[in-house]
Amino acid sequence: MTVARNIESGDGGEFQSPALERLVKSLSRLPGLGRKSATRLALHLVGRDEVDGPAEELVAAVTEARRQVTNCSSCGAITEADPCRICRSERRDPTQICIVATPVDILSFEKAGFYRGRYFVLGGLLSPLDGVRAEDLPFHRLGGRLDQDGVTEVIIALDASVEGETTALYLQRLFADRDLQMTRLATGIPVGGALAYIDEVTLQRAFQFRRSF
Ligand SMILES: [Zn+2]
Repeated sequence: MTVARNIESGDGGEFQSPALERLVKSLSRLPGLGRKSATRLALHLVGRDEVDGPAEELVAAVTEARRQVTNCSSCGAITEADPCRICRSERRDPTQICIVATPVDILSFEKAGFYRGRYFVLGGLLSPLDGVRAEDLPFHRLGGRLDQDGVTEVIIALDASVEGETTALYLQRLFADRDLQMTRLATGIPVGGALAYIDEVTLQRAFQFRRSF
């Protein structure tokens, strides 16, 4: 079958194959894929005769990942075993928690390899404009984790965006009464960033945490 060559675009800009159209549409619903890229991928996937071609491999990989992948019930990391390897490791300090927005952020820290504490994934950032409020994020579970593990240090590692700043300030206030050492990643004017185009919150923080040199 040489789908790529035989199937032509119909009058309405759609293939004369509902099945292929369905595949293109479902692919174009994936993040970052427009109709053009989705069409290219779809033709690549169906236009092969091999039994173990890219389509079969993709279907198997998605099925397997859907079955195996879960989030650590303790920290929220993406894992196949719950609790995750980091939460299980006795070499990781349970009294030190790094708060991140997404499970992917953990990868950056782990790749760098310097951090010896554990994590907590918020799964999002406070954003009143987008309707993300405090009750939508797992702050209550985070509080429980602080108690349970006798956490003494919290490192807030969130984006230097307005949402990241809002969430960090909320966390600071939320745990202000606790006997905790709370630190934040030092951020400020990005390298190459023009002062005029930096939002006020970032600028204020850059000013507040200014250092002498
Ligand atoms: Zn974990």
